[in-house]
Amino acid sequence: FTDDFERAELQELDKKHFLHPTSSIEQLQEQGPTFIFAEGQGIYLKDMDGRTVIDGLSSLWNVNMGHGRQELGVAAMEQMSSLGFSSCFANFSHEPVIRLAAKIAQLTPGDLNTTFFTSGGSESNDTAFKIVRHYWILKGQPEKKKIISRKKSYHGVAMGATSATGLKPFRDFTNSLAPDFYYVDSFLPESLRDMIEKEDPDTIAAYIAEPVQGTGGVLPAPKEYFKEVQKICDEYNILFIADEVITGFGRTGKYFGIEHYGVTPDLMSIAKGITSGYIPLGGVVLSERIHQELIELSSGMFLHGYTYSGHPVACAVALKNLELIERERAVENARTMGTHMLKGFERLQQKHEMVGEVRGLGLMGAIELVKDKTTNERFAQPAAPMVVSEAMKRGLICRGVLYEGADTLVFAPPLIITEQQIEEMIDILHDSLTAVG
Ligand code: PLP
Repeated sequence: FTDDFERAELQELDKKHFLHPTSSIEQLQEQGPTFIFAEGQGIYLKDMDGRTVIDGLSSLWNVNMGHGRQELGVAAMEQMSSLGFSSCFANFSHEPVIRLAAKIAQLTPGDLNTTFFTSGGSESNDTAFKIVRHYWILKGQPEKKKIISRKKSYHGVAMGATSATGLKPFRDFTNSLAPDFYYVDSFLPESLRDMIEKEDPDTIAAYIAEPVQGTGGVLPAPKEYFKEVQKICDEYNILFIADEVITGFGRTGKYFGIEHYGVTPDLMSIAKGITSGYIPLGGVVLSERIHQELIELSSGMFLHGYTYSGHPVACAVALKNLELIERERAVENARTMGTHMLKGFERLQQKHEMVGEVRGLGLMGAIELVKDKTTNERFAQPAAPMVVSEAMKRGLICRGVLYEGADTLVFAPPLIITEQQIEEMIDILHDSLTAVG
């Protein structure tokens, strides 16, 4: 077996037997996988041929504490060896889930103090929608079941999560989704008010939003947006769900993205960064008020639970990961390195005709590619895929966002990145932009 032979064999097996998540079937059948990764260390990934690349999106915005963290492996191994699994249904519990729920209560803002666990962001959002609908049934208002979300939002791929996703291509992928979902302008609170008035507030259960839209192209909400939104939700008796699946656990330079906006949601969806992606885990955090009302009003069963709600191994890894975040001051690092990254983008903006707006919050950043800086005119053929491909050749993975006319590069490197590594990213981007432009 030569390495070439092994790679060719794996390529063929991949094409034949593995249906990739969120991918181009056509491209994969033509070319096979670009990288077959074998290991990772810090911000770097290495493939089976020994090629090293910077993981500029923390894989899927989730490997926040970087690759190759042995502490997380040891935490999983120890937990698997003592209690690999036991149920949390009914009146069973275990120490890792209890300690993790208490830790989340300590980290989340305001009175967000009680967590329901899932295996990822999509399940978290579906759970949030089911909880708010159940809540209104208990409150004697079963007709309050509509969910309002924002255009350009991404909330995942479970049926409810896809239905809530504002990016239309994800909804168009299937031709029948959950009813009762509505989409408002991402940045204008008045658009929410108009939709509530139009649809009748007595039929609306909740409003959901990402503090910084990630998949839509790293779009932070304007400074005062969520204060206005919170007022509107209060005025019409509508619950506010913050989708912190990307923005949670330090990504934006604060523990949670919504903390930049000085409001506390009624429910918060979390996932990804809670375990730095080492093991699937998500959750919905409820405010004290909602939890108390559920306690007071419930008489029957809470009939919602995944087999893996509160998986002990996932909880043990999360606890260790949260310990690492604290010990290594990763949230502070995300804030300072985010500033460096943005400054680097600004330098690229000065040097390259095709770099339009640059923006970011903490270690979420975006670069708009334009044909003409003064008018913001786009290229007829989007440039992002070419820049992404040039960057990949030079050792940097980043993502191009093309939804709804965008031509945007997005970045979210691990929170442990150093200033020197940011410079390495910027240098590669500079060369890649030069190669394309
Ligand atoms: N919500 C947001 C904001 C996300 O970015 C994602 C995934 O990228 C999800 C929900 C879905 O999470 P998952 O892919 O873990 O189901």
